[in-house]
Amino acid sequence: MKGGYMGSTLRIDLSKNKISEEKPEKSWAVKYVGGRGWGARKVWEEVGVNVDPLGPDNLVFFGSGPLTGLLVPSAGKMSIVSISPATGIYADSNVGGAFGAELKQAGYDAIALRGVSKKPVYIMIDDGDVELREAKEYWGAGALVTEEQLKKDIGDNNIHVLAIGPAGENLVKFACMTSDYGRNAGRTGMGAIMGSKKVKAIVVRGFKDIPIADVDRFMDIAYESYRLISENEILDIWQRQGTLQVIDWANERGVLPTKNFQETVFEQAEEIGGDKMEEVKTTSRACFACPMTCGNYCVIREGDTKVVVEGPEYETAAMLGSACGIRDLKTIIKANNLCDDLGIDTISSGNLIGLLMEAYEKGIITKDETGGIELKFGNGEAVLKMLEMIAKREGIGGIVAEGVKAVTEKWKEMKPFAMQTKGLEQSAYDTRASPGMALAYATCDVGAHHSRAWVISKDLEMRDKWTAEDRAKLVIYHQHVRPLFDCLGVCRLEWIELSIDENIYADFYTSITGIKTTLKELLERSEAIYNLTRAINVVRGISRADDYPPERVFCDPIPSGPLRGRLLQREEYDRLLDTYYRLRGWSDKGIPTKETLKRLGLKEVALELEKSRKLKRKYK
Ligand code: SF4
Repeated sequence: MKGGYMGSTLRIDLSKNKISEEKPEKSWAVKYVGGRGWGARKVWEEVGVNVDPLGPDNLVFFGSGPLTGLLVPSAGKMSIVSISPATGIYADSNVGGAFGAELKQAGYDAIALRGVSKKPVYIMIDDGDVELREAKEYWGAGALVTEEQLKKDIGDNNIHVLAIGPAGENLVKFACMTSDYGRNAGRTGMGAIMGSKKVKAIVVRGFKDIPIADVDRFMDIAYESYRLISENEILDIWQRQGTLQVIDWANERGVLPTKNFQETVFEQAEEIGGDKMEEVKTTSRACFACPMTCGNYCVIREGDTKVVVEGPEYETAAMLGSACGIRDLKTIIKANNLCDDLGIDTISSGNLIGLLMEAYEKGIITKDETGGIELKFGNGEAVLKMLEMIAKREGIGGIVAEGVKAVTEKWKEMKPFAMQTKGLEQSAYDTRASPGMALAYATCDVGAHHSRAWVISKDLEMRDKWTAEDRAKLVIYHQHVRPLFDCLGVCRLEWIELSIDENIYADFYTSITGIKTTLKELLERSEAIYNLTRAINVVRGISRADDYPPERVFCDPIPSGPLRGRLLQREEYDRLLDTYYRLRGWSDKGIPTKETLKRLGLKEVALELEKSRKLKRKYK
């Protein structure tokens, strides 16, 4: 390959202490693009159906993309791919900052880890030299503290660190990985997988050039894309407030999750929104090469204590704020900081604490079970205490640490108002008035996460005008284009928020790699990857029943606000799902057909899928 790829994947077998390199074939690299695509293919090929996600045979794959690390707007992204301990199915989580860029400069496109180390280690990747180093002295420390200490001990403040906190070590099912003091691979429990492998951190430093096939053409596109972004009229609000501005947007439209998604309008929204945050913001932060600088660096002081956090972002402020009835930004900032250091996902944590608060107020759980905590909506101290208890698996925190499936197994009465799909706690949009967003969450390949398709804005606008086909088509388009950014290794926010034409990324790909490609072709590859992740899930038992929103969406009308009285009709959703399957070329049970897989160049996947379904029938 002429450019974009470093041509080497680092392989580490932790059980055998074995470090090696693998050179991907060009055809394979092209077909699966990079990042999420490479990871999905590795998981399909190498991870057995009955693998224990926290056992030695699970693989965790860290993949940058062909655009990562170059002068492309926001090209610092890397995907972490595996089988999730929270859901038992395909999972990926994306991390910003500059770790992915540095990994390429160190000579690697990706890292594939397997096995379990006998003792805690960190992986040192130093410009092509790799070693496993003892991490006994860092084990037990917070992720932020670990990053700082490793930089001091190595004597280089410019290295990049991806670390877990105590939650990952304690195998909390929604533990995350943190890099650059607050950029997180938050969802699906990647931190727990690292904890199970006894890897506290990966440290990377690199000085290599990333090759570019056509430098002149590349520089023209880079210049044009940065110019377009710098002239965009809404860049200013993004640089001032980042995603936190979405609090006002969601509240005004009546889709802001409030008190565990019971309500959709939060009276104190302005206390936790972007304007309030600007009062404590000290500066903006950006991921690698990003002109949007959407990160908010906030500092709060209480007596002698100073809390510094990059955030909160919208999802954090909504899930640890309005969803828990918390009406002051300071508590949310403290909770955000705690989650970053303990190494737990803010979305899943907020979702679960909100669920428990509703259960507590309904008398399903008592003060005896909470260890004396008054777990009522609005109790900020209770939220902070619960986060500690979850990460350390203390008291009720030990059950919550197992995720929403375990919580609703223990207290079945919570099932009707547990906001989750496929075992992943839902992120921060109420979908009762948005069938398209309900479909997006329910058919997302990692569970109820907005990362694959964010269609709520258009869907609300077109609520009564759109047909099921219009809605399903938009969800499918998003499910192809948004994950494509994860394959390429760039952030999608410029495309979504600043309306930067997605064709520009195909032009970047062509100039960097020297492989002439159009957006249409890249989208076809992304479609193939979506079908591949569906196949991974199908062989693990996922079917139509798992593609439905939580019960509350069908049963509890929105009680107040602009969308008062709205809820989703089951028949309407059935039709929408039928349409979605038809357009995708999947059977009415949600299984990709042989013809679809063949059309997408996945003939061998079709054969395996058929075999596994036959086996299942045989052993039923
Ligand atoms: Fe990072 Fe925000 Fe830039 Fe995306 S827009 S790369 S999240 S700073």
